[in-house]
Amino acid sequence: MINYLYQEQNWQSQLSDLITDPAELLDLLQLSQDEFLEGAKLAAEQFKLRVPRAFVGKMKAGDPFDPLLLQVLPHHLETEDHEGFVTDPLGEEQANQQPGVLHKYKSRFLLTLTGACAVHCRYCFRRHFPYQENLPKNEDWLNIQQYIQSQPDINEVILSGGDPLTLNNRKIKLWIERLESLPQLKFLRIHSRVPIVIPNRVDEELISILKNSRLRVILVVHSNHALELDDFTCHQLSKLVKAQITVLNQAVLLKGVNDSADVLVKLSSRLFDAGVMPYYLHVLDKVKGAHHFDRLPQDIDEIYKEVLANLPGYLVPKLVREIAGEKNKTPLFGVSTF
Ligand code: SF4
Repeated sequence: MINYLYQEQNWQSQLSDLITDPAELLDLLQLSQDEFLEGAKLAAEQFKLRVPRAFVGKMKAGDPFDPLLLQVLPHHLETEDHEGFVTDPLGEEQANQQPGVLHKYKSRFLLTLTGACAVHCRYCFRRHFPYQENLPKNEDWLNIQQYIQSQPDINEVILSGGDPLTLNNRKIKLWIERLESLPQLKFLRIHSRVPIVIPNRVDEELISILKNSRLRVILVVHSNHALELDDFTCHQLSKLVKAQITVLNQAVLLKGVNDSADVLVKLSSRLFDAGVMPYYLHVLDKVKGAHHFDRLPQDIDEIYKEVLANLPGYLVPKLVREIAGEKNKTPLFGVSTF
């Protein structure tokens, strides 16, 4: 384990000091540049390396198969083409009604306020998403407001990514206040990986903003492995839970990272230690560049069967796939054709 005193560092300075150079990451983890650097540089040309030092601090030095490292280190396999793996696997460009608005489901829609993430997850289904053309500006709020009002079924807004918690508290508050002004909205969901990769992002001001909102706030974090959840991270997450904010976790099933029942059982148990409920276990979206994280449906079925046998029902995340154009996520267990 590499020892960083990240717990004492302000989250914004951590966010502005990300590791973006594969050579630096390999150096810090005492891994061979000869073996990994060329492939990493090649893959990083398509999707840059970005990883906070706090997250690297949870990795094991000298281990090229560290499950946290595999999620962030660009790999030459990303540059291969594979049939069925495409740049927009969920058809989001068609669901993009206007800048920042992705309306795929009846009662809820996604608002993407930023294209920035604290970490670049190599398997991300939005790794090719044209964020720059889709970010709402301040003056777009009126159009967004009109859009929501024209869709009376919408009662929930999901702030999604990029990662909304890379925005500062002032901006988060501003957008929440805007959404609160619309009586039809009841729920606000925030999808974020920042509390896992920079746990200090959970500061008192953020907790207070979320806690005091008129909207019922649900924070959905994204952790794939129990090693991401060290004591400090769990402590930060539990502060949100104590403030009565619902905190759920979604994970992605990734070859080499968490594709065993044992690892998934440990993840659920560790989440529960922090008061976080396992929510979804996503099958990999077939995005170009992520083929090497994929597992066969029958293998996934086997793994999930074992998870079911080893956890109480309330700790079992729902195994799902998102299918472009469908009105909800598709549950998968026992479905041989996924
Ligand atoms: S944090 Fe989320 S949106 Fe950002 S790269 Fe990772 S999976 Fe994708």
